Amino acid sequence: MSAYNIVSVAGSDPSGGAGIQADLKAFSAHGTFGMTVVTALTAQSTRGVTGVHPVPAEFVAHQMDTLFADATVHAVKVGMLGTSEVTEAVAEAIGRHALPNVVVDPVMVAKSGDRLLESSAVEALRSELLPRADLITPNLPEAADLLEEPEAADLATMRAQAARLLELGPRRVLLKGGHLSGGESVDVLASRGSDPVEFRAPRVATRNTHGTGCTLSSSIAALLPQRPDVAAAVGDAKAYLTEAIRRADEIDAGGGQGPVHH
Ligand code: PLP
Repeated sequence: MSAYNIVSVAGSDPSGGAGIQADLKAFSAHGTFGMTVVTALTAQSTRGVTGVHPVPAEFVAHQMDTLFADATVHAVKVGMLGTSEVTEAVAEAIGRHALPNVVVDPVMVAKSGDRLLESSAVEALRSELLPRADLITPNLPEAADLLEEPEAADLATMRAQAARLLELGPRRVLLKGGHLSGGESVDVLASRGSDPVEFRAPRVATRNTHGTGCTLSSSIAALLPQRPDVAAAVGDAKAYLTEAIRRADEIDAGGGQGPVHH
C-alpha cells in the first residue's frame, strides 16, 4: 500500500510528456498513489498543441468535491487551468477543502509557443490562486507575466523577482532559471522569514525537454510529505528531473520536441 495520495489538477497531454500524464508517472516514480482532476483536454503531439477543450468550471469543482469527500489527500499539484473560471473554481475548492501541500505551477504558454492559459485569466491566477499556494514554481517568462516586469536576465534579478513574487501571497516561491544561458541551470527558492536557497544542476544538451515543468512540480508535490522540509523535496525533485532530461533521447515519441524520460 502506498502511504501517500497525491492529486494533479491539470490538463491532459495525449502525447504523454506533460500534463496529467507526466504527473502520474512522476507520482508513481516517487512511490505515491496518483489521482487526477482534469481541467482541460488538449490535442497535441511533440510538434505542438493543435486544440484546447476546457472542462466547464462547475465540473472541475464537481470532480474535486466528489474526490475530497472520500479520499485523504497528502499533496496537490496544480498545473494547466486554461480559463479564469476554472482558475477561480480550483482556488475556491482548495480553500473549501483546506488541502495541504499545494504546489502551483503557473502554466501559461507551452514550449511550443501555444497558450495554455487565457491572457484574461492571469489576474485570477495572481489574486485567487497564488495566495492559497504553499509553493509556486514559475519559470522566468511566467514570473515576468505575474509581476508585469521584464524577464530576468541574471541571477541578481531572479533573486529580487522571487522576493517580489512572495508578496503575491504564496508561502514559498521556486523561481526556475532554466531559460537563462550558462552551463548550469539555477533555481531560487524564496521563503518568508528565511534566506533564499539556490539549486544548481548541469545543463543537459537535448532539445527533448517537453514536460520538464510538469515533472518538477509533480515531483515536489509527491516528495513534500516524504521529506523533512521543502528544500529537501525540491533538491530531490530537481535531481529526478535532471536524470529524466538526461535520458530523454532514449524516447522516440514523434518528430518534434520530445518528452523527458520517467
Ligand atoms: N500540455 C499540458 C497539458 C501542460 O500542462 C503543459 C505544461 O504544463 C504543456 C502541455 C507544455 O509543456 P512544455 O512547455 O514542457 O512543452
